[in-house]
Amino acid sequence: MTHATTSLPVHASTELDIFDADQRTRVPAAAGLAALTPALTPRAVRVLGQIEQAQQDYPEMANFLGLVAQGIRDAGDSAAILDEVLQLMQEQRTAPPAPCPAYSWCAETGDHDEHFSLYITAPTPDAYGRDVVPVGLIDWGKGVKVGLLDLDLTPAEARAKLAELRAHLDHVEGLIALAEQGATGPAADIEHARAGQ
Ligand SMILES: [Zn+2]
Repeated sequence: MTHATTSLPVHASTELDIFDADQRTRVPAAAGLAALTPALTPRAVRVLGQIEQAQQDYPEMANFLGLVAQGIRDAGDSAAILDEVLQLMQEQRTAPPAPCPAYSWCAETGDHDEHFSLYITAPTPDAYGRDVVPVGLIDWGKGVKVGLLDLDLTPAEARAKLAELRAHLDHVEGLIALAEQGATGPAADIEHARAGQ
């Protein structure tokens, strides 16, 4: 007669077998199942009830809360699981936000579809405190654009605008030169200055 002393505990018989010296080490089927799915502590039952309510109140968090609930059911108690969740949330809060995976110039962090750089402006604001010629890079999902003069410009368009602005600054310089000369002539003088002559 052979005795299956190596059989899985959950399949072991609960009946005494006088030929089996190891029977005390076997776990009756019911106890084996209990070991696999531990009884819930009153605290765990309470927390699971709260989680169920929260899943109804915050459907957008239902999946996450479901995972927490499953962890509590698996563990039998809620304390360690909730500690773990709190620790994970804490780590997420203290972790530096992930930089943009698409563009080195993008100032957005974490998950995002629209990319924005910080913008640069002329060194001084105007008399009202407004930024002068703010410029930045953007990508709404259709390629990188240059945000300039409240326009979303392709790089080529931005270069054309920049050339116009450079010419404008030359004209400004011409006006300054007129002021330095104390010129009091007619508007033609300003046109003269505009021509950069
Ligand atoms: Zn980005």
